Amino acid sequence: MLRIGHRPVRDHRVTTHVGLVARAFGADGIILEEHVEKSVIETLLETAKRWGGPFEVRVTDSPRREVFTWKKGGGVIVHLTMYGINIQSSNIVERIRRRENPLLIVVGGKKVPRWMYQAADYNVAIGNQPHSEIAALAVFLDRLFGGEELIREYRNAAIKVIPSPRDKIVRRLDSEKRRGGPSNTG
Ligand code: SAM
Repeated sequence: MLRIGHRPVRDHRVTTHVGLVARAFGADGIILEEHVEKSVIETLLETAKRWGGPFEVRVTDSPRREVFTWKKGGGVIVHLTMYGINIQSSNIVERIRRRENPLLIVVGGKKVPRWMYQAADYNVAIGNQPHSEIAALAVFLDRLFGGEELIREYRNAAIKVIPSPRDKIVRRLDSEKRRGGPSNTG
């Protein structure tokens, strides 16, 4: 996915959470603008290292170029915006899923440039009310993957949660597992 419109300092936490949600809800990676704070990138990389991946983080000096390069390569652009086609009152997710081309999902910040609306193959609204890039991304990915992303196993994780109704149980995975060996959970 691609996050545009990051405002240094002010959006530090929001952009971090966009990245965390992207990873936890099934995206393969995130492209950030080059002025995003190093600490945002470090948090995302550290999370992927501890909790598993794959999850790629990279920066760009031109989000516009990323979008057009992606399109040229046969990829599909989905831009999440309150002005788009309402996800609930259309079959837009089914149409996107059927395309099978690599998806680049874009979320914005305060103001998204006009070219983004034109370049997108799909401008998708998670309802037509203003809310948040974090919420929009979570809902879109969950609809796209039909909830399957929530039970996905992450590769090369150093730790994982053992679900529990009452306790906080975290299992440290052995180095064999981290190298792709048999699971020691159960
Ligand atoms: N007026 C903005 C817009 O174009 O959606 C709201 C800006 S909002 C603070 C930042 C980002 O959140 C937007 O660029 C968009 O990606 C996402 N967003 C907010 N509300 C949304 C909605 N209802 N549907 C889809 N995305 C939304």
